[in-house]
Amino acid sequence: MTYEAVIGVEVHAQLRTATKLFCGCTTTFGLAPNTQCCPVCIGMPGSLPVLNKRAVELAIRAGLALNCTIRLSNRFARKNYFYPDLPKGYQISQYEAPICESGSLDITTNGHAKTVRIRRAHLEEDAGKNLHEGDAATSRVDFNRAGTPLLEIVTEPDLSSPEEVDAYLRALRDILKYLDACDGNMEQGSFRCEPNISVRPAGSSDLGTKVELKNINSFRFVKQALAYEIARQTKVLASGGVIHQETRLWDPEREVTVVMRSKEEAHDYRYFPDPDLLPVEISQEWIQELRQSLPELPAARAKRFVHDYRLPEYDASVLTASKDLADYFEACVRLFPNPKIVSNWVMGELLRELNARGIPAQRSPVSPECLAKLLQLVDEGTISLKIAREIFPELYASGKDPETLVHEKGLTQISDAQVLEQLVEEVMRQHPAQVDQYRRGKEAVLGFFVGQVMKASGGKANPGKVNELLRRKLASDTPSGS
Ligand code: ADP
Ligand code: MG
Ligand code: ZN
Repeated sequence: MTYEAVIGVEVHAQLRTATKLFCGCTTTFGLAPNTQCCPVCIGMPGSLPVLNKRAVELAIRAGLALNCTIRLSNRFARKNYFYPDLPKGYQISQYEAPICESGSLDITTNGHAKTVRIRRAHLEEDAGKNLHEGDAATSRVDFNRAGTPLLEIVTEPDLSSPEEVDAYLRALRDILKYLDACDGNMEQGSFRCEPNISVRPAGSSDLGTKVELKNINSFRFVKQALAYEIARQTKVLASGGVIHQETRLWDPEREVTVVMRSKEEAHDYRYFPDPDLLPVEISQEWIQELRQSLPELPAARAKRFVHDYRLPEYDASVLTASKDLADYFEACVRLFPNPKIVSNWVMGELLRELNARGIPAQRSPVSPECLAKLLQLVDEGTISLKIAREIFPELYASGKDPETLVHEKGLTQISDAQVLEQLVEEVMRQHPAQVDQYRRGKEAVLGFFVGQVMKASGGKANPGKVNELLRRKLASDTPSGS
């Protein structure tokens, strides 16, 4: 019997607002503990929450980008449980009336397209953070994060492999980043993912018992944890055992999942509508306005890149994964209208430098204008392609104008016929044996000569011209001195 995996994903995306969901405290990351708190976000009796309109706006934008229905009247509920990082004893979340419902996201895995249904996306506040540092006997709580706005996005159980989950998460993250709704940083916890997974006999339409996975803070861990869990559950079922509904934690050191709590230990949250908050009424006009302000999203942009710039799909998907990079590419193509050459340089030289330093294209020291100029210098024959590649890291490090750098370094390509002729003759004089070989019909020796001349010129000779000269000289001249 073979088994197949069924996976549904819950993502908590931190919304990019300046202040928290129900108070005016700043959401800046990394400040000193408990310096971003007020009576509202630490749950002082008598304090009252006031909803952040920007958070609602970002939730609607995300919902629209994910093809969701926006609920014109949605409501906040209290999710009650006790934990030290939860100062009020309840989390303000949405339960029966989430702001976004019934959406979808298209993904592609190994050329295979799939539509993943989004069940719901709702607004909720984040909790604080327990710190277990210093001496083992003491734990501390930092409430800076308490009250930060989150959008929880939940799929139907439509995914069936770790690769699909990876594709879904990347597509979702790219969209949220395009919208400026979330910075998508998994390591810093602003994009957190909790997959639910079950396994069933292949072809069955019943759902098996699911396990929820937590403590996954990188794309690599998502894939590893799911692969581990598929293997574990398959083994249990194949040997006649049963899967227990539970929450398991990924242990990145041991590369296994371990039980955190079973279904019996699960909380009863006793949800009820929050009496301190009015229902959120959203007008059709506002939704229309937000719909019209949506940027072109990654999938549409990739399609346009393939169509308008005749780029391979691979290039289009790499270039459009971030808005920054796609903007950079388009700015450069406007100045140097050869899309494939620009694409090669952006995906190659540029991304190599940017990725090595974790810098977004927006802050690239080599501007689109600067890259276009470099490509122009190659195009008009002022420098060779090889030199252009060689000086790119220096261009990046110095932020200089390519023309200035080329002149400073004396790298201008040698196209002067007289100078090239001297070089060619000198090389032929030094290698009489190879000249003989060529003349006896061994044409492959030409490559050797081109290489020697390029070397003698410090890489600056115009290779096309060198080729032409060599052919002529080797065919006719007798090397002087022989
Ligand atoms: P819970 O009430 O335990 O949170 P939900 O029904 O809300 O469960 O589903 C949570 C997530 O788990 C959703 O993404 C859903 O698609 C997924 N899910 C539900 N049932 C299964 C299952 N049997 N196998 C895999 N995923 C599932
Ligand atoms: Mg749930
Ligand atoms: Zn506050």
